[in-house]
Amino acid sequence: MRFAFISDIHANLEALEAVFADADKNRVDEIICLGDIVGYGANPNECVELVSKNCPVTLLGNHDIAAINLEYTQNFNIHARIAIEWTSQTLSESNKSFLKALPVKKTKEAMTLVHSTPYEPNMWYYITSLEEAAFNFQFFNTRVCIVGHTHIPMIVTLEGDDIRGHQGKFISFKDRDMMRLLINTGSVGQPRDRDNRSCYGILDTCDESFTIRRVNYNFMKSQEKMRSIKMPEFLVTRIGEGR
Ligand code: ZN
Repeated sequence: MRFAFISDIHANLEALEAVFADADKNRVDEIICLGDIVGYGANPNECVELVSKNCPVTLLGNHDIAAINLEYTQNFNIHARIAIEWTSQTLSESNKSFLKALPVKKTKEAMTLVHSTPYEPNMWYYITSLEEAAFNFQFFNTRVCIVGHTHIPMIVTLEGDDIRGHQGKFISFKDRDMMRLLINTGSVGQPRDRDNRSCYGILDTCDESFTIRRVNYNFMKSQEKMRSIKMPEFLVTRIGEGR
């Protein structure tokens, strides 16, 4: 079985369509969405509808909850707040109901799925260091945990006491029965690791491997649409720069 993990789409339809096409080309059996379907981009309704059709498992992100209840924007910066107010006015009632019903954390087979962190997922903390990763390994029991939220892909393994961050885009855990993994699958619609290509991950349960994939998409078209709805210029330029 090959699972694709997508996260942080942020209403970027061009990026989402490119990733779905790439997943299809790579013989993915099931696509799992780790949240933040909306916020920042110009196509929140289209992205919610595509995800709801294509992803049997979808998790809630902090922008998704903020779009249905603006009280959740306390920790948002001014750009994110402007974007989420527009998103909230634009989303249809049925798409809001879809977002509202999403779970914050889920276990599927040997995987824990959560947008932010296994530790207190409703607090929307970030995992940005090995120390934070090590702490979070205590809060899931499965072999693998997949997260999003930082918009930066990351692979961390724990084998006994040995905790390691991996620089590459691929990890094999075949014949490593003691190895557990905490993986950030990166961002489809707003990557922040200085690479403007869309990012998502593929877990192969037969090969026992995880691959981070990068996909080119027409980001200038996404930018044009964002300008036409008067999104802050900072948000428009950042998707071109991947930061
Ligand atoms: Zn996000």
